Amino acid sequence: VVEMGTPDRSVVTTCAYCGVGCSFKAEMKGDQLVRMVPYKHGKANRGHSCVKGRFAYGYAHHPDRILSPMIRDSIDEPWREVGWEEALEFAATKMKSLQEKHGRRSIGVITSSRCTNEETYLVQKLARGVFMNNNTDTCARVCHSPTGYGLGQTYGTSAGTQDFDSVEKADVVVVIGANPTDGHPVFASRMKKRLREGAKLIVVDPRRIDLVRSAHIEASHHLPLRPGTNVAVVTAMAHVIVTEGLMDEAFIRERCDGESFRDYMDFVSDPRHAPEAIEAQTGVPAQELREAARLYATGGNGAIYYGLGVTEHSQGSTTVIGIANLAMLTGNIGREGVGVNPLRGQNNVQGSCDMGSFPHELPGYRHVKLPEARKVYEDLWGVEIDPEPGLRIPNMLDAAVDGTFKGLYCQGEDILQSDPDTKHVAAGLAAMECVIVHDLFLNETANYAHVFLPGSSFLEKDGTFTNAERRINRVRRVMSPRATYADWEVTQLLAKAMGANWNYTHPAQIMAEIAATTPTFSNVDYPLLDTQGSVQWPCNDAAPEGTPMMHVDEFKRGKGRFIVTEYVSTDEKTGPRFPLLLTTGRILSHYNVGAQTRRTANTAWHPEDLLEVHPHDAETRGIKEGDWVRLASRAGETTLRAKLTERVSPGVVYTTFHHPETQANVITTDFSDWATNCPEYKVTAVQISPSNGP
Ligand code: SF4
Repeated sequence: VVEMGTPDRSVVTTCAYCGVGCSFKAEMKGDQLVRMVPYKHGKANRGHSCVKGRFAYGYAHHPDRILSPMIRDSIDEPWREVGWEEALEFAATKMKSLQEKHGRRSIGVITSSRCTNEETYLVQKLARGVFMNNNTDTCARVCHSPTGYGLGQTYGTSAGTQDFDSVEKADVVVVIGANPTDGHPVFASRMKKRLREGAKLIVVDPRRIDLVRSAHIEASHHLPLRPGTNVAVVTAMAHVIVTEGLMDEAFIRERCDGESFRDYMDFVSDPRHAPEAIEAQTGVPAQELREAARLYATGGNGAIYYGLGVTEHSQGSTTVIGIANLAMLTGNIGREGVGVNPLRGQNNVQGSCDMGSFPHELPGYRHVKLPEARKVYEDLWGVEIDPEPGLRIPNMLDAAVDGTFKGLYCQGEDILQSDPDTKHVAAGLAAMECVIVHDLFLNETANYAHVFLPGSSFLEKDGTFTNAERRINRVRRVMSPRATYADWEVTQLLAKAMGANWNYTHPAQIMAEIAATTPTFSNVDYPLLDTQGSVQWPCNDAAPEGTPMMHVDEFKRGKGRFIVTEYVSTDEKTGPRFPLLLTTGRILSHYNVGAQTRRTANTAWHPEDLLEVHPHDAETRGIKEGDWVRLASRAGETTLRAKLTERVSPGVVYTTFHHPETQANVITTDFSDWATNCPEYKVTAVQISPSNGP
């Protein structure tokens, strides 16, 4: 940490990394950030922080920041630095002419869960109100879109049920497909405190993550399932609960839909779902699974926390539904200490979904096919909204390859590095006639761009982020935008260049429009956030102080709906050529593709991605600790160093994806969740062999 003198002011703002949403005091000297101090009144973190929020802010001043707009006619040409006006005119002219030639649905937008609610709202408004189509998607597509679908279908709301405080009342904590110690460190500390006080822990994960055994914590059960078998395991837990009579019958009778429950009972009580029947397939010892299910059902308050190890599968939505079923079966909904809690990856995954970034939903999760939902915006914006859902990210890329999708505005998202099947992403981008990248750095996607618009860091703008517990936190500008404009201003300038009459002068006005049009946000405004510090949606006349806990007396949809969860094994099969399964995750000091953390001192803690290999698998291939290894799948291959560890089971290898050299997504396939197209990042059949290096 480089201390830069004595601060002369401080501004309370919100960390822009993970979905915990920690509050910090940005201590400033003039326009220089001296240090980030965790804010003791922050409701998500209460004065705690991790190494990302505390130290990894230097990227805002990194020399790699691009501060001038750039344009070029073709991706083979060098970039030309130009003024903002020329860049925006160039972009607007290209996008309008594409629509004239190829129709209004030939262009679209992708927004990022790193951006504020206000920015995200404007980007979807650009698509719907200026491009005149619903071709809007968000990077939540590739992480938690199955959460939105699964919880929406079962409970009626696409969000977690509890606040973080709730963990303090949990008696049994179930962690499925999440590694909170690395991914959500500050919440992990709160969880660990509760575990040290005596709460029991069940971990369902192919890896023996830190939580399984750490200081004064030992999981009662670790179910080391084979990647891709989540649905079978969750359904088997339900089978045990149902067949052993461990259900909360009163809760089911009073709170859940009877017909759906009867169908579910018929399905789940079938012996083919018994733990013994799925043991060979999942690799989970049947007795261990039985005992874990009994503990969850009978151990008092049972709280489930899950992450991308649940969602990023071809059956991601089915697993989310299965988890929701488990909580209803056992009555673990609607009070403190229980619930279904998705641990959102990025700082504003929840918010980007709330703001209508998906191509089928307007803000507040209202389907675009509903005339009354469209009318709210048609009256306000003076346009006619396309009633047809638009394209998801993978569909945009497919359509680009097919020649029907021609132009993209991509804000704060490096799809070439973060999305699966890199070759296909590159082919889609290369086929487009106008790609506008709006970002802090000249990222990998920008290799295929015709316009680069400089972005602003979270320190340079006002707005809000919504964390994993639906908490809307203020982001406050602590320094002037280094490239002249905050991101919301750039989107507005692009809209104006295309003929829109937008005249916001501050993000507070955008939030006022969100509140006026979105029932769950109707009482949210900046003065309330300044007074209360933060507020959890729904925040409206029915809940003026916000809503820490959902579904207390009834589910948002009325009765909770059970849905049958048939396990279908992934199409990604192991075999003689690719006998191992690769799964991926994050490490404490870095964040996702590392665009920010790699440009800070945090990189010293993790200078390269390593491949975790079980010693048995390494030995049979002649691979030793630290050796270079060729990692190959049906999609592609890459090279990285081996780390021998029993954290992974035999037959499974694991890596992080923070460094572009790793090219983890060259390896991953294009299989995706059946309901949402969330990519199946967590299961790739691979082979490893000794290598001389890259
Ligand atoms: Fe930021 Fe998440 Fe760390 Fe909190 S836990 S400081 S929100 S990265």
